[in-house]
Amino acid sequence: MADEQITTIGGCHMCKRTFSFTPATVMTFRMDPETNLPLGMTVSGAFREPTPEARARSVERHLCPDCVDRVKQLKHFMDQQSTTNFDTWQRGDS
Ligand SMILES: [Zn+2]
Repeated sequence: MADEQITTIGGCHMCKRTFSFTPATVMTFRMDPETNLPLGMTVSGAFREPTPEARARSVERHLCPDCVDRVKQLKHFMDQQSTTNFDTWQRGDS
């Protein structure tokens, strides 16, 4: 079958559900195992440019479609919040 898509079984990082996906379409993100947060994400939920060390140790994770929807809603919510939180996360904690 020429149009057959190769599916892979993987675990969703968020809900731990096992799901099948095609590698070309699945949502992946890089995760920093040290902070247990997505690469570049700070504990407060703000995004900052990841350090080279964090980038080097990061691992690739998958998200199932259900969680992708949830993340999109969360991101939309955080985008609305980010303007009000700007002053607090700008301080830095390094
Ligand atoms: Zn999931």
